Amino acid sequence: MIDTGKLNYSADLWFEDGDIVLKAENTLFRVTQGILVYHSHIFMQMVLQAPTTTIVDGCRLLEMTGDKAVDLTHFLKAIHDPAYYDPAQDTPFEVISGILRISTKYNANGLRLTCVRHLQRIFPASLEDWDNRSAPGNDTIQKFRARTLAVIMLALETDHPVLLPSAMAYSWSVGLEGLLDGVPSNHSFPKTDLDWATKRQCIIARDRLTLAIRTDLLAFMLKPAHCGTVARCNHGRLASLKAWGTFFATAVIPTPFRFEVNWTDLTQRMCTQCVEEGRAEFLSARWVLWERLPSFFGLDEWDSLRRKAGLDTVPT
Ligand SMILES: [Zn+2]
Repeated sequence: MIDTGKLNYSADLWFEDGDIVLKAENTLFRVTQGILVYHSHIFMQMVLQAPTTTIVDGCRLLEMTGDKAVDLTHFLKAIHDPAYYDPAQDTPFEVISGILRISTKYNANGLRLTCVRHLQRIFPASLEDWDNRSAPGNDTIQKFRARTLAVIMLALETDHPVLLPSAMAYSWSVGLEGLLDGVPSNHSFPKTDLDWATKRQCIIARDRLTLAIRTDLLAFMLKPAHCGTVARCNHGRLASLKAWGTFFATAVIPTPFRFEVNWTDLTQRMCTQCVEEGRAEFLSARWVLWERLPSFFGLDEWDSLRRKAGLDTVPT
């Protein structure tokens, strides 16, 4: 027997027909073995090996060593009530992080993949998905200033580096001071503060990514015109490059993939042929830069990251 006097009984997860009791930190949960086992073979092994010496309310007790009660609460609610976690609905970050931690640790693969794909809506592994990021109804994850840093920390903690390239490329959305000092947070991370090695990766990549906008994405502007109005188009290129020079000196672009060329504006300065060729080269360079993105942070290639996460190699 254990002294249950010092323990809390979960209000929401104490089922009268439950047949096993889980203990995380100081909280007890009475749930259904069959549902646990259905979601994870590791739970099956744990249930089979649960000691018969410790009994709570007639049920054997499983000690969930190292798990936070709040994380386990969200996970258990999700497996007992499939409607509890629905990525189509607005979702508190704490729910996603809790379910991802527990489902990763105990290899509850269906829920783990649901969480990863949910987080990929804001930090995807394909440029097409990045461009769909702001589509209506796409981003259902709780918004707060430290969110990008929180996703990076969660990806590192649960070993899902597939989330890192686009999240780290966006880490400057909190500004240099936020990145260096951390950002106050009111959810499961009291202060969202990256470890120094990750900060270093983000800061070093920042300069290289900013440079890539000028050298790679805007390379089309430095190509000589091959059209019927060479002088006019070259003059238009020069005027645009000067304007961008001022823009880059003052603007903070959180990621190269937020940078867009105003093609309508260019049409005023260059002929249709130059603009169309330029647009094709810009889009091609943007795609190449996206493919190279993980290398800016010393990460494996996209395909390798997707495979490691158990995701299809073809972006979805
Ligand atoms: Zn032209």
